[in-house]
Amino acid sequence: MDLQDKVVVITGGGQGLGRQMALRLAAKGAKLALVDLNQEKLDETASLVKEAGSEAKTYIANVAQEAEVEATFNKIATEFGRLDVLVNNAGITRDGLFIKAKDGQVQQKMSLEQWQQVIDVNLTGVFLCAREAACQMIERDIPGVIINISSISRSGNLGQTNYTAAKAGVANMAVTWAKELSRYGIRVGAIAPGFIETDMTAGMKPEALEKVCSVIPMKRLGKPDEIAHSVEYIIENDYFTGRVIECDGGLRI
Ligand code: NAP
Repeated sequence: MDLQDKVVVITGGGQGLGRQMALRLAAKGAKLALVDLNQEKLDETASLVKEAGSEAKTYIANVAQEAEVEATFNKIATEFGRLDVLVNNAGITRDGLFIKAKDGQVQQKMSLEQWQQVIDVNLTGVFLCAREAACQMIERDIPGVIINISSISRSGNLGQTNYTAAKAGVANMAVTWAKELSRYGIRVGAIAPGFIETDMTAGMKPEALEKVCSVIPMKRLGKPDEIAHSVEYIIENDYFTGRVIECDGGLRI
């Protein structure tokens, strides 16, 4: 797909990886529909997109709420007159051990709330946005692209029962949707980033970050633009579908 004048929806486009994806795709001529929870951050990304020479519209929506997602995708497709690409990027963490015990006594367990919040946003949100994007693409006869942002944690990671379940889910949903939607000309891929320089990793303790970097073969965190580059690759490569790109500096075992 040539990105010039294509309409790309990015959830979680207000900051971090989503913002960088918007800027990289804007430089290629794409028009951006940015979905997030915070208007101020959305406005910042939108003005950066304009500086990069393209246009952006912003939409406040919680990806975990079915009615909001349906209304937002209808609005986007109506306002732009088309919808070519969805990047399912919005995500949260609520880390904690599954069970914490000492001397045979359980002291703490992951709460249902901790589990549910992450599943709602990172798994159900991806399902809802992809479903609505695919409906728009099919009804408008557009051979679109859907990309789910998974994580290296999809293979299992201490303290992330909720997050790993969701991130494994979105990687596998990409494979399923590729098989189902290919008949409509829609391609679906996923990206599993390793540790990337964003607010998500800036919140980690410096000693924990140092430890992480020491086991990454490339000995550094990834840069947001390196993930944005993978997004661009999936969109532009017309034979790519049903696969997960692992962009993690070689970290996954
Ligand atoms: P981030 O900086 O926290 O950005 C995520 C964005 O998603 C925020 O703007 C957030 O808005 C928004 N968001 C959260 N819940 C939402 C909801 N229910 N509806 C709509 N928007 C919502 O995270 P990031 O580091 O850029 O990560 C982006 C994606 O990459 C996530 O899916 C993450 O799991 C994945 N990932 C990141 C890394 C990494 O190292 N950074 C590694 C692997 C995978 P608010 O801030 O206003 O809540």
